[in-house]
Amino acid sequence: MNKLRTIAIAQARMGSTRLPGKVMQTLGEKPVLRWVYDTLKRSYGVDEVVIATSSLPADDIIAKYCAMNNLNCFRGSETDVLERFYQCAVGYGAQVILRITCDCPFIDSNVVSEVIRLRLMREAAYASNIGPPTYPDGLDIECFTFDALFAAYKEAVRPSDRDCVTQFIVRNRDRFPAANLTCPLPGLEKERWVLDTEKDLEFCQNLAWHLRTTDRVNYLDILRILDIFPELREINPGVRNERFFEAIHTEELAPRTFNRSQEWFKTANRLIPFGAQTFSKSHLQFPPGAAPLYLSHGDGGRAFDLDGNDYVDLVNAILPVVLGYRDPDVDQAIRDQLDNGISFSLGTKLEYELAEELCQLIPCAEMVKFGKSGTDVTTAAIRAARAHTNREQVILTGYHGWADWSMSTTDRNLGIIDNQETIRLPYGDFEAFEKELNGWHDITAAIIVEPEGNPAFLKWLRIMCTKHGIVLIFDEVITGFRWAMGGAQKFYNVTPDMATFGKAMANGMPLSAVAGKREIMKRFEPPNNIFYSGTMFGETLSIAASLATIKKMQSHNVINHLWRVGADIDLAIHREIDRWKLGDMVYMAGEFPKRTVNFRDCGNVTANQLRTVFMKEMIQRGVLIIGSNNVSYATDDACLKRIRSAYAGTFEKINGALDQGKFMELVGQEATVVSPLRKVY
Ligand code: PLP
Repeated sequence: MNKLRTIAIAQARMGSTRLPGKVMQTLGEKPVLRWVYDTLKRSYGVDEVVIATSSLPADDIIAKYCAMNNLNCFRGSETDVLERFYQCAVGYGAQVILRITCDCPFIDSNVVSEVIRLRLMREAAYASNIGPPTYPDGLDIECFTFDALFAAYKEAVRPSDRDCVTQFIVRNRDRFPAANLTCPLPGLEKERWVLDTEKDLEFCQNLAWHLRTTDRVNYLDILRILDIFPELREINPGVRNERFFEAIHTEELAPRTFNRSQEWFKTANRLIPFGAQTFSKSHLQFPPGAAPLYLSHGDGGRAFDLDGNDYVDLVNAILPVVLGYRDPDVDQAIRDQLDNGISFSLGTKLEYELAEELCQLIPCAEMVKFGKSGTDVTTAAIRAARAHTNREQVILTGYHGWADWSMSTTDRNLGIIDNQETIRLPYGDFEAFEKELNGWHDITAAIIVEPEGNPAFLKWLRIMCTKHGIVLIFDEVITGFRWAMGGAQKFYNVTPDMATFGKAMANGMPLSAVAGKREIMKRFEPPNNIFYSGTMFGETLSIAASLATIKKMQSHNVINHLWRVGADIDLAIHREIDRWKLGDMVYMAGEFPKRTVNFRDCGNVTANQLRTVFMKEMIQRGVLIIGSNNVSYATDDACLKRIRSAYAGTFEKINGALDQGKFMELVGQEATVVSPLRKVY
């Protein structure tokens, strides 16, 4: 294997805000920075170790300690840590850099060496054990090439990029491919062994005392100590990287460009019709040239595009990502199941486990079948309803997937043959429904609705369907696991005959379900009933992910969180609408877990132009949105700060431009290309 000169640079300073002088605090018999230095020195693959501190007089003490103990020391900028690293790397002739911060006294030399080797084996520009973190907080190791550091040094402009050396590299994953070392032991990311506060110091000193006879720190030793003295963990509970997220979400953002997205669009278009797999995630939904078209990765409530722009994501993959990207518990469940296999030649017990869970949660669920997409299960529900009633007509109100029966009622119906026996009526229109049912109730097999609001209408439908022997289907692909764990039927207390679920049920893994009354669900049983079968329907990674998602949603009261943050955002929006008196042109609709932002034509400004400018401005302010606040459990306080300020800035700008008669300058020429967003087709 090609050996590159690898320099471990440990950053240290006396001026920590929470715990001044922490790197020189004594743990056991030596200062914190000596723990770090000694471990790095012993790590296989590290050629040289350097303590990198600032040239502030306050940090003289660090330099002095290094000189007296014969440790390499480099001094550079206090605030531009990126420059300090770069100059240090140049000075020591580094081809590969290992970055450690001296608030991690208990780093493990084996883990250090594994990260170094992983980067090499994966030929990655960057490797770490924190993307996502699966090791204890305080065992953080990052390793990157000199080229990546050079690019960051030259190009990074955001204050947080200059302060947190690797942020630019991490954000620009499309340019700097990354590898992550995952801890073989599950759940360790919840451990806190970092030195950041007084309480952490107390914890670390305790640990150091117990480790005093160990000359090589190993994280298994620490776990063993914590097994014996579990009360140590109670000394310093805390949240990983809290302050960092706060900083990146409140700092001023530089103007964003989307050149790499645009370039990739041209490439993708050559082999992929309209360059995308999903209509709502395609260029057709975004202001031309003023939005990202492709993402490289996600992290909690944030997503990153090919140009290295970060966003608080209010699209969340058009709603599947309900816990956030890379949720540690769901990802662990997927890894665990992966050890058994993915798809099998026969069924598995997991299917029953999930079916049982769904039957407990969802009021109408007496039996369950799975699918891979929302379209699978809505189509299956319609077929079962037709078989059950021996009737053909279906009344629908919303979007239920791309199948012929559903799309035949829209103007996107090319390629669909006539007479699918489906008709579309406006949701909530009692009169239209009454008229239809008066004439045609005895040929109507099913009414399928998205139960997103108007419980009085849902209750009335329930009565009408029972009266006329029509199967009432709630399409809960959006509302399921969002309005309530048991879906909108639980929330509004109206029980349909059948219901369909998808999106949020597996935090982004492809899984859907159709559930319903036993007598109707029995229609799925061959040979004398409907045919519904798929090679992938029992695929186990998704089922394991769904079980883990449901478990976490219940134990962390995620539904409550979705309502709370949704309401918080809504309050902030209304404040801005009132402040700028924009009520004539902007209004909100829907329930808080997915509240939509809607526009009306106003004077000579069209709703579409308003939507275009709104999206452009929100994206420039670091919030990715296509028209609704699709919040997740990872939409935390730091995300909320950015969301609120993005809405405030956006509405202020729209108002200012309208006042000065300059609104059309914001629109740009191609604004009308953006498709209406109200219905996600
Ligand atoms: N039903 C509803 C309510 C939806 O919103 C969607 C998709 O947006 C679907 C069904 C179709 O789901 P899928 O895109 O997974 O086929």
